Amino acid sequence: MATVYLSVGSNLGDRMANLRKGQELLVAHPQINLIKASAFYQTSPVGGVVQDDFINQALAIETDLDPYDLLEYLHEIEAKLLRKRLVVWGPRTLDLDILYFDHLESEDPKLTIPHPEIMNRLFVLIPLKEIIDSNFFAYEQIQQAIERLEDSQDQRIERVDENERN
Ligand code: ATP
Ligand code: CA
Ligand code: CA
Repeated sequence: MATVYLSVGSNLGDRMANLRKGQELLVAHPQINLIKASAFYQTSPVGGVVQDDFINQALAIETDLDPYDLLEYLHEIEAKLLRKRLVVWGPRTLDLDILYFDHLESEDPKLTIPHPEIMNRLFVLIPLKEIIDSNFFAYEQIQQAIERLEDSQDQRIERVDENERN
C-alpha cells in the first residue's frame, strides 16, 4: 500500500458540500482508504485575478492503485461533480491534486510527483502540515516554505468552521 497526500479545492457552489462529496466518492473506491483529513481552510486567490475564494483541504490516503490509475479515478470524481453543476457556469467545483505518492518522483507532465507547486502555495502547505508527522521526509522543507510565504504576507488563509454554510 502506498501513502498518498492529496490537495482538494473548490470555489464554486456549496464548496464544503463539494469537498465532502469528493471525499465520499474517494473512499467509495475499494482500493482507497482514508487515513487523515485536515480541517477546511478558506483561501484567497492571489495575483489580482478576480475569482471567488477557495475552500481547501488536504487528505492522506492509502491505496494499492498505481499512480496513473489513482489520477484517472480523481478525474472521474472531478467530472462527476462538474456534471452535476453544469447548469451553473463558472469555475470548476472540485480540484483533486496528488501532492506526494510515497517517495515517488516523476517528471511526466501528465503526472508530476511531488506536485511542482506545493512549496509556493500556502493553501496546500497549511492543510498538509496538519496531517503529516514530524518525521515525514519533506517536513522541514514544508515548514520552511510556510515560514517564507507567511513572511511575504500575500496569501490569506483562514480555518473554516465545519458547520458554517458556504
Ligand atoms: P495545478 O496543477 O497548477 O494546481 P490545476 O490543478 O488547475 O493546476 P488541472 O487543469 O486540474 O490543473 O490539471 C491539468 C493536468 O495536470 C491534469 O490533467 C493532470 O494530467 C496533470 N497533472 C500533473 N501532475 C499532477 C498531479 N500531481 N496531480 C494532479 N494532476 C496532475
Ligand atoms: Ca490544482
Ligand atoms: Ca488539478
